[in-house]
Amino acid sequence: MALVHADSSQAASALRLAMLAAARTLSAQGLNRGATGNIGVRCGASFLVTPSGVPAEDLTPESMVAMDFSGATLGPGKPSSEWRFHRDILAARPEMGAVVHTHSRFATVLACLQRELPAFHYMIAVAGGDSIRCTPYAIFGSQELSSLALQALQNRKACLLGNHGMIALGVDLADALAVAVEVESLCEQYWAALQLGQPNILSASQMQAVLEKFKGYGRAQDPQSEPAALASHQGVTKA
Ligand code: 13P
Ligand code: ZN
Repeated sequence: MALVHADSSQAASALRLAMLAAARTLSAQGLNRGATGNIGVRCGASFLVTPSGVPAEDLTPESMVAMDFSGATLGPGKPSSEWRFHRDILAARPEMGAVVHTHSRFATVLACLQRELPAFHYMIAVAGGDSIRCTPYAIFGSQELSSLALQALQNRKACLLGNHGMIALGVDLADALAVAVEVESLCEQYWAALQLGQPNILSASQMQAVLEKFKGYGRAQDPQSEPAALASHQGVTKA
């Protein structure tokens, strides 16, 4: 049967370029090194994922691997070993368009302690709630890891993977990248605060107020709203 070139459109070409830019950004910002981490992006009824074992500096737009939601590849290349969680997250979360996985330093430190982040800072709300959960350990690339990640991501845009790293989601790649950058920063802040004592944890009602305020955040047209969208707030250029 002839393989369908499901991602041969202009939109798919733009996504491939955006994935390349995002992978380079993650590497340049020190969130990933070598071939660690990966990126998945929804592309119509299929998705694109970075290839397995390829460092950011060796990636090309053509090396991104097209897959369908049954797990079949739709073109050349070996997909990321984590294609299962990219597929399962994109399938279970239709409101999300991109998945970024990192082995960034401070997220991984906390993940190695299997420590969830409580509401020690109001920006924890960027992940969609009053905590960022951490999964138990499961070997990389496994369906078990994917299932644990899906559970930890319920009502959230980020989670830690036990003894492994972090997953961040976004409505698009720029959003997922901004969430990943912010979560890494929160992990560093939490780690630093723990060196000095027990951080004050914001209450459920304090966090509810933040989550409410975030709903209007970033509407540039409205002078009453907060000043900038998260992506630009974080200095992440649109990939
Ligand atoms: P891949 O190179 O297969 O994407 O694996 C990297 C990784 O981070 C596995 O969890
Ligand atoms: Zn990994």
